[in-house]
Amino acid sequence: MEIIHISAECYPMAKAGGLADVVGALPKYQQDLGHVAKVVMPMYRTKFLYENEWTVEHKGNLRMGEAYYDFTIIREASNKLGFDLYCVDINGLLDREKIYGYDDDTERFTAFQIAVLEWMSQWQHRPDIVHVHDHHTGLIPFMMQNCFVYRYLASIKTVLTIHNAQYQGWMSWEKATYLPAWDTWKWGLLEWDNMVNPLACGIKCAHKVTTVSPGYMREIKYNANGLEFLFELEAGKCTGIINGIDYAVWDPAIDTYILSNFSTKKIKEGKHLNKKKLCDDFGFDIQLPLFVFIGRLVGEKAADLLPESISRAFDQMPGAFSFLILGSGEKYVEAALQNIQEQHVGYYNTQIAYNEKLSHQMYAGADFLLMPSRVEPCGLNQLYAMRYGTVPVVRRTGGLRDTVIDFEDEGGYGICFNNASVADIIHGMTRAVKLYKDPTTMQQLRWRMMQVETSWERSALQYIDLYLSIL
Ligand code: ADP
Repeated sequence: MEIIHISAECYPMAKAGGLADVVGALPKYQQDLGHVAKVVMPMYRTKFLYENEWTVEHKGNLRMGEAYYDFTIIREASNKLGFDLYCVDINGLLDREKIYGYDDDTERFTAFQIAVLEWMSQWQHRPDIVHVHDHHTGLIPFMMQNCFVYRYLASIKTVLTIHNAQYQGWMSWEKATYLPAWDTWKWGLLEWDNMVNPLACGIKCAHKVTTVSPGYMREIKYNANGLEFLFELEAGKCTGIINGIDYAVWDPAIDTYILSNFSTKKIKEGKHLNKKKLCDDFGFDIQLPLFVFIGRLVGEKAADLLPESISRAFDQMPGAFSFLILGSGEKYVEAALQNIQEQHVGYYNTQIAYNEKLSHQMYAGADFLLMPSRVEPCGLNQLYAMRYGTVPVVRRTGGLRDTVIDFEDEGGYGICFNNASVADIIHGMTRAVKLYKDPTTMQQLRWRMMQVETSWERSALQYIDLYLSIL
């Protein structure tokens, strides 16, 4: 089977969050299962682009409304990722350093999708499956089926994976003219709530729709930023498949970012050495339990609750723990997290940054990883934490509910709480501080969580079964 993944992110070329990790790993595991998997993404100006060799695969041009663009498709020459990675260059739109956050993101991602289809419709062979990810590629199934110029692609089966339903790529109706001429009887497929909604359109047009955990698929019917009823309507073609983690990147036994490699055989020593490095770097006391938070500082992650939760936890348990934060996002959350730094010197630090290496060091060196998320489609952080023997302290929601079992329940290894609230976060942290005082149980939990099967192998097979069900 040949599968083409089309995505705005793919690790290590460009990453803003979990989408990149998934698109950088799933194709590799699909290749291991004997299939051909390729990834097509925009050619941002990232470090990976400049550090690798590329070959030009195709040159073409496209029209988007009144504007004309030339585009070029390049392929990473050495196949170092374990699958073919193609990048689409469109001068004036995609030649930027960042992935998102520009005023013309609608134009950037619409042109990207058109370029991919222009290329595919001129290509010599047809993939069996076109697998699109999130709203940035949500118009592709519609265009394949309804734009007259892409008739050649109309019978190819499509799958949409939703990594995050909060963002939907809303566009005003004038922008529907950006798409190559389409069958206007089908306008209803583009529409949701009087807007063109690329995510809703993907859900309507793809042959199968998945979310990145079964728990999120259940919750999305009640909480999907306005798409709840659509999920109700389309329930028959929707399933949840839990993400895995890429053991080639996330394994404490071989991770080159961390100071001391370790496996289940030397957890105690490995955790100690990695914790020492973190504590030395940030001036923390190694004797105290070390909490970390890694992620986007946004409402979905309940990052706005962190400043008050941490301050009140310090008031209630003075000198009882250290806390390190790595992330960036809402400016007011960043400022609030930095503001409390002065009051807790030696116990607390915030790094407002995106830092892949430090994130690995934090998973390896911390005792506890806090994830109080309001919404968590799957969550990879808790899976990485578990793999690195760091106890996840999580709110029971979406993928967190599916992957973390409270240590007081049978076979458990984490700490779970019910509400994204200051009170529940502090309660979870208090249980963690108490647990830390029992090193034997801590050691058992670490050993247990490091054995939990979180690899992509099982989930990659589930995707293959899903493709087969529509072929
Ligand atoms: P998201 O909703 O952001 O996609 P996930 O838990 O699915 O959340 O994935 C987050 C990924 O992004 C993880 O690989 C995590 O380590 C990484 N990450 C998030 N913020 C940062 C940061 N500031 N620095 C380094 N890595 C980060």
